Amino acid sequence: MKILLVEDDYMLAKALEGALSNEGFKVINVLNGGEVPAAIYEHEPDVAILDLGLPDIDGVTVLQKIRESKNALPVLILTARDTVYDKVDALDKGADDYLAKPFDMQELLARIRVLARRVGITASNMINIGDLKMNTLDQTVCFQEQEMEITKKEFLILKSLMQSAGRVQTKEMIERKLYDWSEEVNSNTIEVHISNLRKKLPHAIIKTIRGVGYTIAAN
Ligand code: CA
Repeated sequence: MKILLVEDDYMLAKALEGALSNEGFKVINVLNGGEVPAAIYEHEPDVAILDLGLPDIDGVTVLQKIRESKNALPVLILTARDTVYDKVDALDKGADDYLAKPFDMQELLARIRVLARRVGITASNMINIGDLKMNTLDQTVCFQEQEMEITKKEFLILKSLMQSAGRVQTKEMIERKLYDWSEEVNSNTIEVHISNLRKKLPHAIIKTIRGVGYTIAAN
């Protein structure tokens, strides 16, 4: 699996490259945001690690450009900016995960493994997280081998959370997957669906990240 590492801090980039290589990843390191489109085109990376404080273009702008080009490349943001606002902003602009510096290398590797698994997962119809099994083709969900009764919207929310297991989905990200832009969405609609899902599943499976959104643990 190839990782595009967009990081201008040379020492940090080398440390990351070493750790990721040890895990069997091939790392392509670029120092500037402007190099990202060409690097994606040339190397077709599976995952990107993106620093926000780059010498030329802000990382959030780089992220927006990737998403504008309809590229679904999973992106993990690595940054010294760590307010809730920064996190929500990056997630809303299409980041898949967010890790604040200084970070623990083991945590970064674990999160990259989650993204890697997700890249693998999207190639198949099945998403399995512990006792929870989803078939995205026939839209069925089983918990402990028992098929669940689930509405269309609940299915879409659960799919969004399972595909992003280990990462937070903001309410806005979930809404975008559920409704057309034209549809009026009641501000507590997602909460109602989540609450109904929690009645059907062990309560602890879907976690609320206060002020940010929801998540399901990766395993
Ligand atoms: Ca930097």
